[in-house]
Amino acid sequence: MFLGLVFLYEGPGCFRCLGISTLCGDFADAVFHLVREKYSELIGCSALMHACHKGLAGIVMTRGLDVRQAEVVALASGTKCINGEYLSDQGLTVNDCHGEITARRALLRFLYSHLELHLRLRDNILFHMYISTSPCGDARINSPYELTTDFSVHRGRPVVKKFHSHLRSKIESGEGTLPVRCRSAVQTWDGVMQGERLVTMSCTDKIARWNVLGLQGALLSHFVEPVYLYSVTVGSVTHTGHLSRTLNQRMERLGSLPACYHRNRPLLSSLSSSECWQQLKASCLSINWTAGDEQVEVINASTGKRRDCRAPSRLCKPSAPGSNADPLTYGEAKQAAASYQTAKQQWVRALRDAGLGTWVQKPVEQEHFMLTV
Ligand SMILES: [Zn+2]
Repeated sequence: MFLGLVFLYEGPGCFRCLGISTLCGDFADAVFHLVREKYSELIGCSALMHACHKGLAGIVMTRGLDVRQAEVVALASGTKCINGEYLSDQGLTVNDCHGEITARRALLRFLYSHLELHLRLRDNILFHMYISTSPCGDARINSPYELTTDFSVHRGRPVVKKFHSHLRSKIESGEGTLPVRCRSAVQTWDGVMQGERLVTMSCTDKIARWNVLGLQGALLSHFVEPVYLYSVTVGSVTHTGHLSRTLNQRMERLGSLPACYHRNRPLLSSLSSSECWQQLKASCLSINWTAGDEQVEVINASTGKRRDCRAPSRLCKPSAPGSNADPLTYGEAKQAAASYQTAKQQWVRALRDAGLGTWVQKPVEQEHFMLTV
């Protein structure tokens, strides 16, 4: 069923702030079933079935909260991210293949395909994300938190500091996360190529960022107002109170955001039953699909390339449409999104001021390619 996503121009305005923190269990279950059915329809009994369902994520679009008109618009799976040596200075790799991250990239393809200039999402169109397990990073770490000592001393005794809500980064080609300790906000190309560990922010941190900057990213923010998640449903290993804290409580020092941006608080839910799939061992394969695609695409998460190596992934950066204006590099076009960049700077500063760590970006060289018209 297709809702007919329509962008209507309604002038500048902001989405309302949602103060409710949980989602009705029936609705969360419906989101899960829709994603699972779409996954089964796409993968069927193929060999991919066992290789690809770990780290499953999907995005469902509804009009209001009417599940009868719901549609899965993006779907992905995966639990790994790229090895630094495979980074592409042409942006031809997908750096982060964790399911929720590639599902967002698949959603971007959906939004681009329905884009009309300077329009906004019609009110009442809502996006809901399903994730099979708690997002990696702070949301997956249950109490008691990791303890460590730092160098500060109080009355002759070391002060114990908890990495509570701290930014975390993914392990290259593996699973799990580590607290971000870098002081520099940007990694260097030559450093990574010489074997420095590539820092990819955890899914908890990225979802928290979407709650400030939206899902649409910098480039699409030239054309549409921020697109926020209305709800997040987590299949297993979750504690919604903990998830709420990790996603929502880092925004206290944000200050007032540029017009149209706000602190989004998605409704959170876990499934009412334990009906979720068995977790299999991690695979290097990651799939993605956007409404309208005939079949899934399979990526090797360690290399960030399609498994068949025939062409770059449809999710990689150069797939973003260019513009008819003066030719720009991908990085320049992102920088030109002034409100988005202001909101992003506020987000990074708020984290740093709260002592939660530095948001680390990939080397700038990977965004130096020209956008094609
Ligand atoms: Zn993750």
